[in-house]
Amino acid sequence: MSAPGQEEVKEMTMDAPMERRVGETRHGAAEETADVVIVGAGIVGTALACLLGEEGVEVALVDARETLLDPETVGRGQPGMRVSALTPVSQTLLEGLGAWEWMAARRISPYRFMQVWDAEGSGEVSFSAEQAGVARLGHIVENDVTQAALERGLDALASVKLVLGARVTGLGESADGGRCVQLADGRRLAAPLVVAADGARSPLRELAGIGVNAHETGHMAVVTTVQVERPHGDVARQAFLPTGPLAFLPLRLDGERHHCSIVWSTSPEEAERLLGLSTEALGDELAMAFGHRLGEVTVVDRAVAFPLVQRHAQRYVLPGLALVGDAAHSIHPLAGQGANLGLMDAAVLAEELLAARRRGVALGDERWLSRYARRRRGDNAGMLALMDGFRLLFGTRHPALTLARNLGLGAVDRLTPLKRLIMQQAIGHRGRLPASCR
Ligand SMILES: Cc1cc2nc3c(=O)[nH]c(=O)nc-3n(C[C@H](O)[C@H](O)[C@H](O)COP(=O)(O)OP(=O)(O)OC[C@H]3O[C@@H](n4cnc5c(N)ncnc54)[C@H](O)[C@@H]3O)c2cc1C
Repeated sequence: MSAPGQEEVKEMTMDAPMERRVGETRHGAAEETADVVIVGAGIVGTALACLLGEEGVEVALVDARETLLDPETVGRGQPGMRVSALTPVSQTLLEGLGAWEWMAARRISPYRFMQVWDAEGSGEVSFSAEQAGVARLGHIVENDVTQAALERGLDALASVKLVLGARVTGLGESADGGRCVQLADGRRLAAPLVVAADGARSPLRELAGIGVNAHETGHMAVVTTVQVERPHGDVARQAFLPTGPLAFLPLRLDGERHHCSIVWSTSPEEAERLLGLSTEALGDELAMAFGHRLGEVTVVDRAVAFPLVQRHAQRYVLPGLALVGDAAHSIHPLAGQGANLGLMDAAVLAEELLAARRRGVALGDERWLSRYARRRRGDNAGMLALMDGFRLLFGTRHPALTLARNLGLGAVDRLTPLKRLIMQQAIGHRGRLPASCR
């Protein structure tokens, strides 16, 4: 351990992490302290800050972004391109935080049916909310709407301090043996616990020396918004093409049911080709690939592509450090589960930290933090493995596997208990839910 004032800090450069002593920094700023420093104010980090802040935990919520979203413009006009299918379990969490009511008043799109089919064969499976015993299977929500709703909640939380325009560049030990993050402007923030909620590339995870099991899916996700000829009828549809899954997620704009958010996972070459097409030609390709199930397709926004890499951190916790959300796991969007899994991480970590505080256990205690890791790692790993299986099974043209998956989809559709199990997974009812999600 280093002597006070001589703390070891790992700094991030553009190329590689390096070691530097805080005492040697140009700025020499004093440490600001909190109970918990959360790095990354995306959906997951902000939800965690709200859950802890509601119980009076002193939180510093840090993000490189300069400003918060403007709640006046979010969820109005053209829908945002990044959307998530939020499960009823995530909805319960967001209701408890007082965010859902605002989201619902702004713009959310319920879906009551799901249809998945093999574009190369005859297999098809469909689920309904009624079969799953819920009013809705979930809602398609623009990420900005969820984000802005959570940000509004921060206003009322005196114990949460927002530190914006602050890029974390180093991680070290604080003067009292806790953790300390170094900001690019020279400031340092110290706490018994630092939480990495800084996204899939997580600089903090790298600074902490935590490796990832990364898996190039070989896919890019092409994302855009379209208008469709036939009403979508609140059905979330996904076709498995030989090149990857294509999802049409139903959006309700001013009550009408003719818009969908598109996520088309495909090879990088194919993604490049699609992005190079005219709007009309892309609409025609989408309609054709989807077997014209919703008639003509008109692209109403630009199309962009995201690389899809599945990553799973080799550890979720170290002394004084925990990973949540995409920093811990990033998952193929075909399951629509990334944000849901991250919200569940936030809920379980908050529950464990509040229990630690009640018992007088230090918030950075690794053994206590391991309770969080045990509760979340299995669920996340199961979902990552399931997505890998799906991708492999549907990414093949091997006749035996094509036959197997068509028989499999047909069997799932007929086997009520199995179908019910899959539906429970899809709506987020897996394992022991934290109290905030029940
Ligand atoms: C095409 C696509 C479709 C998807 N569809 C779905 C879906 O249907 N359902 C679903 O549940 N999920 C979906 N996801 C996944 C979902 O969007 C993510 O899982 C979720 O947004 C991750 O949230 P997060 O808060 O963990 O990370 P992020 O949203 O990445 O937030 C990380 C934050 O950390 C900040 N940050 C990063 N580095 C630093 C630093 N050094 N210093 C300070 N701040 C820093 C960033 O500014 C950012 O605000 C999809 C993803 C993709 C790519």
